[in-house]
Amino acid sequence: MLLTPRGRRLKATALLASAVSVCLLAASAPPAPLGVGDRLFPYLGNPGYDVASYDLAFTYPGSNDKPLQAVTTIDAWTTQDLDRINLDFAHGKVESVEVDGEPADFATAGEDLVVTPEDPLQEGSWTRITVRHTSDPASPGDEDGGWVRTADGLAMANQADAAHLVFPCNDHPSDKAMFTIRITAPNGYTAVAGGLPTGVDRAGKNTTWTYRSRHPMATELAQVSIGRSTVLHRKGPHGLPVRDVVPTKDAKALEPWLAKTPDQIAWMENKVGSYPFETYGLLMAEASTGFELETQTLSLFEKELFTEPAYPKWYIESIMVHELSHQWFGDSVSPRTWSDLWLNEGHATWYEELYAQETADRPMETRMKAAYGASDRWRAAGGPPGAPKAPAPGQKISIFRPNVYDGAALVLYALRQEIGRPAFERLERDWVRLHRDGTAGTADFEHLASQVSGRDLGGFFQAWLYGEKTPPMPGHPDWKSTPPAKAAPRK
Ligand SMILES: [Zn+2]
Repeated sequence: MLLTPRGRRLKATALLASAVSVCLLAASAPPAPLGVGDRLFPYLGNPGYDVASYDLAFTYPGSNDKPLQAVTTIDAWTTQDLDRINLDFAHGKVESVEVDGEPADFATAGEDLVVTPEDPLQEGSWTRITVRHTSDPASPGDEDGGWVRTADGLAMANQADAAHLVFPCNDHPSDKAMFTIRITAPNGYTAVAGGLPTGVDRAGKNTTWTYRSRHPMATELAQVSIGRSTVLHRKGPHGLPVRDVVPTKDAKALEPWLAKTPDQIAWMENKVGSYPFETYGLLMAEASTGFELETQTLSLFEKELFTEPAYPKWYIESIMVHELSHQWFGDSVSPRTWSDLWLNEGHATWYEELYAQETADRPMETRMKAAYGASDRWRAAGGPPGAPKAPAPGQKISIFRPNVYDGAALVLYALRQEIGRPAFERLERDWVRLHRDGTAGTADFEHLASQVSGRDLGGFFQAWLYGEKTPPMPGHPDWKSTPPAKAAPRK
């Protein structure tokens, strides 16, 4: 994710009404929300199973302020005996739940949908959960992710914790799965989802569009676009299919920007190795999200980023590369916990800066020196890069602070200064190759960096990732970080 300058004014968001059901079962504790122990989002994800695939079917009514009808089918492998299965789901009405074809009881607890099958599930077995529900794009307060209403339809922005506002799921990046997404919409709309199309079926007044992922994906990275859109096709390196989704009326005006993608992919491949997915492209949405988002194979951009004359050309291109580089860093290699967010944003900021240096003569060192100057303040405000502070109440995307962007790119710069350019570049390539299609965390990165450089970097990472103060920059002893203002209240 990258906040655009406007996006920094986050509004207070009405917390989702947590309708805790009081459906008590005989001789059983009431349903309770569970999580996988993420320090920043304790209720995200659920223990006891591993999702292999999602099949999401949405029916769009032709208006973006009415609920979509939806059927979510989850195939999962149980990793413990389960009397109940917790899914993350809030903000939709559940009509029925089936487990392995049999009707199951269900109740809401916090932001969990708690399903009680007729018979308990045994550890080490396949189970299929089918939920018939609505998926509501109208938000009770302010938008906080999930469906994004655009001028002509809908898009999706689930990072970090909003996929479960759209569909029932195990909403944590540590549980990646394959996705099939079907969208039925009135004729005249175009629907596109991540992955490649597998079918377009017209029946009467409606058309059903089907897309399938070829690689596992975290729920936070799903994308569905429904609108009066045109899909533009072009070829990337090695014949990679590139497709962009744009408002039909703007297709011609946006083409000069879209034409830049194949060269940007080639640039990234030259730095870190082959593009990790089956396709790429930009979704340009007519919406004011305040951010751009690296949804897998189809990054979400505000159209305005490309039409607002105040943004310089090099800046827009570097943001395109920021989201593109996330396809390697954050998508193909997704974080084990949200405290590993610095690995996503630090790397995306790194390649954003490197691209600006190599193509627009904007030296990385200038921006690094400025980041060094601000780093102590960022650490005081948001926590050190490796241990970010929890999101502000009602502002879940407030974990996306400068400490995990330029503050984390600064850690990578310090690492390159410390181990030298050849080792650093080998580390980057090895990282995305070894953890391709997987999840990986900070300890994995530290381990690989030590291995590649042939040195124990434990002390280096401890100081740079977890220190309250920014350590001295190797090779730049003159760089100074301004301490946070003494009068500022400590929290
Ligand atoms: Zn980002």
